[in-house]
Amino acid sequence: MRKYVIMGVQGSGKGTQAKMLREDLDLAHISVGDIFRWHVRQHTKIGAQVKRAMAAGELVGDDLVEEVVRRRLGIHDWNYGFIIDGFPRNGRQAEFFMESYDIDAVIHLELPDDEVRRRVLSRRLCPNCGMDYNLIADRPEVEGRCDICGHGLITRADDTPEALEARLTDYHEKTRPVLELFRRKEVVHDVDGRPPVDEVQSAIRKTLGLSGYRADD
Ligand code: AMP
Repeated sequence: MRKYVIMGVQGSGKGTQAKMLREDLDLAHISVGDIFRWHVRQHTKIGAQVKRAMAAGELVGDDLVEEVVRRRLGIHDWNYGFIIDGFPRNGRQAEFFMESYDIDAVIHLELPDDEVRRRVLSRRLCPNCGMDYNLIADRPEVEGRCDICGHGLITRADDTPEALEARLTDYHEKTRPVLELFRRKEVVHDVDGRPPVDEVQSAIRKTLGLSGYRADD
């Protein structure tokens, strides 16, 4: 059983790297942001509560976030473990989490703010199948269309310059201190988020003592 947290500023590749680990290790990938986006799309009561904060790039209230995480982890579909992305994001969430679960490792993807801005503002998403694109590194074959399902691509509501600046400020003020809490427990693995996706994945596996990534073969 492996219990991992993946942390890093928006655009650092958390979601992509978490999905790669999930596929190979049979982990449940739990993204709090994805859960909230699902609620917004489905127009649920939770969706109505989080929509405004999300679009502004602000953090959602801790009570609601903890409830969503507790409920998600209460579905015991993680026989081989989980990798959680986008949580915890502040000291209170970290304490709640550490009280309830033993974490094996925190993967910290490091990326300078300028690179974050460059990446995030060129990010596109398929609202139909969830595939991510990047107009710099990972362009769709046909402009504006998903390679997998052909649906039109959109920009995430919170990938605007204003919302991004709000998220960067929150990250530096609130989320960075969480890393320091985890560092005291000696579970943090710092990984450079700048290289290509496969190289980052290899570096993560190396530092976690896992077998190499297929792209190395
Ligand atoms: P993400 O996809 O992780 O960037 O999350 C998108 C948005 O969901 C964030 O900008 C917040 O509004 C909200 N959110 C996700 N995770 C959390 C969290 N742990 N605490 C508070 N808000 C969150």
